[in-house]
Amino acid sequence: MAEYDVVVIGAGIAGQVCACYLAREGKRVLLLEQNHQSGGNMSGFTRNGFTFDGGDQSFESLGIVFPILADLGVYETQDWIKARYRMVSADFDFYIDGIDAVEDALRRAFPNEPGIKPLFAEVREVSGFLQSVCTPWEFPLLHDFRPSRVLRLLPRLARLKRWSTYRYRETACRVIRDPRLRNWLTNIGYYKMPYLFFAGFWHLWAHDYWYPAGGMQALHRRLTQRFTDSGGEVRYNTLVTRVVPADSSERRAGAAVTAGGEEIRAAQFVYAGDYRQLVEGIVGPERFKPRQVNELVNARLTEALVSVYLGLNMSNHELSSVLGDAQHPFFFPNYDVLFPDAGSPRDIHSRMWLALNHFGTESPSAPEGNSTLTIQTYSSARWQNYWDNGGYHHPRSPEYHELKKAVGLEMVKLAENLVPGLRERIAYMDVGTPLSLHRFTRNAEGSSGGWCYQETISPVFRFPALNLIRTPYRNLHACGHYALWPGGVISAVLCGRIVANLVLGRLPLARLNGAT
Ligand SMILES: Cc1cc2nc3c(=O)[nH]c(=O)nc-3n(C[C@H](O)[C@H](O)[C@H](O)COP(=O)(O)OP(=O)(O)OC[C@H]3O[C@@H](n4cnc5c(N)ncnc54)[C@H](O)[C@@H]3O)c2cc1C
Repeated sequence: MAEYDVVVIGAGIAGQVCACYLAREGKRVLLLEQNHQSGGNMSGFTRNGFTFDGGDQSFESLGIVFPILADLGVYETQDWIKARYRMVSADFDFYIDGIDAVEDALRRAFPNEPGIKPLFAEVREVSGFLQSVCTPWEFPLLHDFRPSRVLRLLPRLARLKRWSTYRYRETACRVIRDPRLRNWLTNIGYYKMPYLFFAGFWHLWAHDYWYPAGGMQALHRRLTQRFTDSGGEVRYNTLVTRVVPADSSERRAGAAVTAGGEEIRAAQFVYAGDYRQLVEGIVGPERFKPRQVNELVNARLTEALVSVYLGLNMSNHELSSVLGDAQHPFFFPNYDVLFPDAGSPRDIHSRMWLALNHFGTESPSAPEGNSTLTIQTYSSARWQNYWDNGGYHHPRSPEYHELKKAVGLEMVKLAENLVPGLRERIAYMDVGTPLSLHRFTRNAEGSSGGWCYQETISPVFRFPALNLIRTPYRNLHACGHYALWPGGVISAVLCGRIVANLVLGRLPLARLNGAT
């Protein structure tokens, strides 16, 4: 006899959305989370009175996230701040207030560069396309199939195919003559992300990036509340190590086994955590095809980030004005686009781009007259022999603590290009490494958004539709940023809804009761 209708493993945004839908449909749902709180890559934390967003600092809706949160009754309980981006280098300093603003600023910075105009003509086309098919509130597949909307897609299908490759991005950027600018435009963003994302990000940065006032953890608390209000049960500090078969036929899962040895029986299971762990431990490699195991275990992942969390003796007002009233100023010390790895040199982080993140009075709390600033860039869990820790083991070595502090100070020094005298204003500082992300989310190598976005090497792009949602057990579905292309918050949220539909025996994109 199953104790629950569904056990959902992992309380990141994907697991939470899925669990909320299932509980709302009257299922007896247990949500298991290895951390002490929900949120996964979107969790927050408080130290010395300063509260920080630990990983993700804001996200896109693309007509998916907001409607689903609204459907769950969470969107309207939350204030939303539109994020503003600013890009700064030795040659330019501009706000991403629209594609025209970006093009004008780049043309002013590189007046002899003939390629900017044709490149941005096509970026504008992608932006127009996105604007016409989806807004923060509408996405063609999720909402009504108005024939006019679908027809508008048809002439663009061939282009969409081309736009969805990195190779096309390389081709498009070849019109840029200046090798530094060409390299920057060809490679900024996640590793080798396709042209559609390169062009699409300018559009999203301008029109569709959002922050839940009060912080990411506040949003997750609301989701958890929604789940428990619908009768769901949640258990924290509960690591699931294995899902075991129901019987000797081994076609169906019977129980989730926790690190404490408890077996929790259910009719259905949803696994909303790291995919490598699913293959190597939760289900076990012996149940997957060998080719698939090899591919999934060795697949390149999205970059991990290093975050410097600063509590500053500087008011929100002062910090916001120094940052130029942008919530996300980016600083580029050069036009190299570096992706740190195990062999990167010791000073790599002092040459990386930086994202400075600050939401003024909408940021999570800081003591009166103080503020918080989070500085981030790409890093790698394997860098310097796992940051001088020799592996993931915890407690960390003293050398690890020293190295992460040194990297933090290097990044602070670089950030002083935007916030002069920053170091003198620090009241609290901590550094989150990819090892920290791995520890708190269990995402392999501290990966931030699922598989690498390059279409030729992303398993979720190349496997047929929904194949990474299915698992060797019929009643165990994978969910989250690894299971649905391309990854990130949008995929995680949409996947939460799709998997809830599948568990309920409905079509993946079927409307759930109460859907808007
Ligand atoms: C620094 C940073 C910046 C980002 N920026 C953006 C952005 O701008 N836009 C965007 O779209 N995305 C961004 N992302 C990515 C985005 O945050 C993630 O893709 C998304 O939150 C993934 O949600 P998820 O629920 O699929 O997985 P996760 O958030 O990883 O949640 C998985 C949960 O499962 C739990 N878990 C795992 N294994 C087990 C187990 N065995 N037993 C019990 N519990 C388990 C984990 O503890 C975790 O809580 C960013 C991420 C980071 C780190």
